[in-house]
Amino acid sequence: LLENNARHLWHPMAHPAEMRKNPPRIVAAADGVEIVDVHGQRLLDGVGGLWNVNLGYSCDPVKQAIRDQLEDLPYYSAFRGTTTSPLIELSYELAEWFREDGLVRSFFTSGGSDSVETALRLARQYHKLNGQPERTKFIALKKGYHGTHFGGASVNGNSNFRRAYEPLLPGVLHLPAPFTYRNPFNTADGAEIAQAIARQFEEEIAFQGADTIAALIMEPVLGAGGVIVPHETFMPLMRAICDRHGILLIADEVITAFGRTGAWTGSRLWGVKPDLICTAKAITNGYFPFGAVMIAQKVADVFEGNDSSLGSIGHGYTYSGHPVGAAAALATLKETKRLNVAANAAERGEELLAGLVRLQEKHALVGDARGKGLMCALELVSDRSSKTSASKQVVQKVYDTAYEAGVMVRTSGANIILSPPLVITAEHVNRILSALDAGLSAAAG
Ligand code: PMP
Repeated sequence: LLENNARHLWHPMAHPAEMRKNPPRIVAAADGVEIVDVHGQRLLDGVGGLWNVNLGYSCDPVKQAIRDQLEDLPYYSAFRGTTTSPLIELSYELAEWFREDGLVRSFFTSGGSDSVETALRLARQYHKLNGQPERTKFIALKKGYHGTHFGGASVNGNSNFRRAYEPLLPGVLHLPAPFTYRNPFNTADGAEIAQAIARQFEEEIAFQGADTIAALIMEPVLGAGGVIVPHETFMPLMRAICDRHGILLIADEVITAFGRTGAWTGSRLWGVKPDLICTAKAITNGYFPFGAVMIAQKVADVFEGNDSSLGSIGHGYTYSGHPVGAAAALATLKETKRLNVAANAAERGEELLAGLVRLQEKHALVGDARGKGLMCALELVSDRSSKTSASKQVVQKVYDTAYEAGVMVRTSGANIILSPPLVITAEHVNRILSALDAGLSAAAG
């Protein structure tokens, strides 16, 4: 398998030659919150698939819904002339779910990158329909991650995902990340950082002209960029500035929607109502590629009130609203609510973060420990005062040792990222922490 993997399979986000040197682990099975590799080793999944398997691997109602839908209707398109009943039911459920956020309509996609692409397009179209065709630019955050389509890559705030593919969309401006550990403002005070970024946003708007800006896209808690938890004032400040200048706010909640931060959405965590919310990942518990963009009444009204050809939605995917995905999503939403996983994410998240802070006190290798709910990170450094990132070898040693100790974690640069299923217990939290403790000791030795 590994030989064929090296020869034929190109891994996303990886260098082909690097993958040959450092072959991937082959996952063969999974149940509960554990995975089993081809050698039969069992591991607690500290990654939750890829931030998406919120309910674990044995979620029978979701599996059954997929089987039943495959029997009844394995596929039909939801383009203009047709639709399917699980999809209509799902749009009703989602409207209920997001009612308090003022989001009333859903546009279905096949994943997170599609959801972002759709939201960016709808934002520009909204302004055109509104008689403001010059509003085409996007504002985003450095360290933000928004998927891999050209639109998403253009707003991504990590140059590694941009450089090879330029030129990207013109007119994208990146504000600094609301990051207390590393930022250009010479302070670790989150409220001050939020104010400084807000000032920069206002300056940029004055310089560019508000009437050239379509939307701000941001993650309520930045995930792939290293789990950056902004100060509670940050997202409300961004919302207020957008409102002042007629700029739409797109919340990229591909990771944060459906409970991961301990709130049902990341935007709700900060008390913010976005104009568009991008979802995917946990919407089907990772069992089927699927996503939804949730759309505010104010945006929907502009489309519905315009009967010119410009009001027609000029994009969509063969798998926009796949009936099997819709059935999976319906069952997932029901289980997500029934198990009240957001509350468990909040409680287990506090235990996990407290444990990570203890590891930071114990191990000089840990520069920063941070998180919200069950999205957490340890940032590894070779020197605490200069905050120099730990070497690849050191990070790999932590990963390998944790693996041997029976816990799967994820590395991203010098960060160890943790995003386990939201149904983990306190005992699982302790297992993650002791595996990391062993990993950090081994890497230091
Ligand atoms: N937005 C965010 C915030 C994400 O974390 C991701 C994926 N990690 C995406 C978009 C892209 O989603 P997908 O990989 O499903 O295309």
